[in-house]
Amino acid sequence: MKKSNLVIVYHRQPYEEIEVDGKIVYREHKSPNGIVPTLKSFFGAVERGAWVAWKQVDPKHKDKDFEQVVRMNDSYGEYNVSRLPLTAAQVRSFYHVTSKEALWPILHSFPERYNYDAVDWPVFREVNRLFAEAAVAQAEQGATIWVHDYNLWLVPGYVREMRPDVRIAFFHHTPFPSSSIFNILPWRDEIIESLLACDHVGFHIPRYASGFVATARNLKGVEIVEEVDVEPTLSPVGLALSEASVATRIRHNGHEIRVDSIPVGTNVRYIGEVAANDATTEREASIREALGGRKLIISVGRSDYTKGTRDMLLAFERLLESRPELATEVQLLVTSVAAANGMAVYRKVQHEIEQIAGRINGRFGTLAAQPLLLMTSAIPFEELIAYYRCADVCWITPLRDGLNLVAKEYVAARRGMDGVLVLSEFTGASVELAGALLVNPYSRHLMDEAIERALDMPKEEQRTRMQRMGASVEKYDSTHWATHTLQSFRQM
Ligand code: UDP
Repeated sequence: MKKSNLVIVYHRQPYEEIEVDGKIVYREHKSPNGIVPTLKSFFGAVERGAWVAWKQVDPKHKDKDFEQVVRMNDSYGEYNVSRLPLTAAQVRSFYHVTSKEALWPILHSFPERYNYDAVDWPVFREVNRLFAEAAVAQAEQGATIWVHDYNLWLVPGYVREMRPDVRIAFFHHTPFPSSSIFNILPWRDEIIESLLACDHVGFHIPRYASGFVATARNLKGVEIVEEVDVEPTLSPVGLALSEASVATRIRHNGHEIRVDSIPVGTNVRYIGEVAANDATTEREASIREALGGRKLIISVGRSDYTKGTRDMLLAFERLLESRPELATEVQLLVTSVAAANGMAVYRKVQHEIEQIAGRINGRFGTLAAQPLLLMTSAIPFEELIAYYRCADVCWITPLRDGLNLVAKEYVAARRGMDGVLVLSEFTGASVELAGALLVNPYSRHLMDEAIERALDMPKEEQRTRMQRMGASVEKYDSTHWATHTLQSFRQM
């Protein structure tokens, strides 16, 4: 097979595996929404693309049945997929333990959740080295290898040792904390040294990029070569004022690295198409019928302590305490989807959410109406669009979130409509969505004020705010993100 000029290294495979007649087949995801289709769209801009992901295998069958590189041909073109065979023990250690219990809490500024008891760093290193080997095996001379997210932090360092000819880019889908929090990680030097082997390091928003630059200066004494203003991609209002968009060139041991930020966009065109189709119109009609005139508040997320679902539910409980009549006038729909891997920390979070939800309905529900509906399995994306269109308020108040696509999707699904987005200041999306009711979820008082204000907001103000956010979401959609990122690659 020919080598590629763009190799994307992302932990998930770029297709769904399904079994047909006892045989595994690879099928393109039905929905073109989400990060995997967005990344695959880059293959349209290069001659030959490749993707590297892990695949869990049973070591007993590994050699007999396993084909490491498969050739995919889907609506994004033809590309190689190199599946790195990992055992269940490797996946558990590298992903569930080190990535999720030690690195994730630090990235989200939850040092109290940081747990390194079960971390086996040599396994994390080894898996990252295997990813690097699989990536370089796909890369032609001078190719770009684009690595994604913190669970692959050590890949750039290994790639650089193996292949000095390639260009290396890295994108963080999470926040990056201040150096005083990052420095809790005992592996901090090794991680930063690896990231400094890149030619380009990207983040969603400037605040995360500055966290990284400050940490690299603090630990490695990197030199700032230049700070350049780039196209102002963020609305110059509200919080965005403190988020001037800059790209920084830094130098480490004679090697220059470009650090910049651009928030991932949503597929606005597709959302618009789904919003306008007949299936959505029918779904909307049945949702509205079920609501029977009640206002709908929607809150969509995974069950993760970073998402702040507990604090949001407590704010809803206080709202019903102070205005009990709302129990029959408002419906809150919360999706709290548990991660498939069933880690103890997420089970605990889910249990607490279910407990509070039960208490709220127990206190305020009647035979005629339960003010809260908690859904614990995912709503298919196309159906979610109908819910967005029926929701008077979208309540998204994570304690920390790298971006939050749901906030952007709500706006995109309601072009030309009213509606209120209540959004945490601690999401990456808040930088772009200055028309939202921005709130600090760590303050009970501010949370209470925001939801009341959302429910009572005059329609005209809603429309003005939605219009402002709609223009931004439309302009900075997934295509813009791809174009901007490719431009950055050219400057590496
Ligand atoms: N999502 C979905 N159905 C659900 C809940 C979420 O399709 O029931 C999708 C949602 O539309 C969004 C993604 O899952 O595209 C979640 O992305 P986000 O950035 O908001 O959060 P993350 O889970 O990546 O932290």
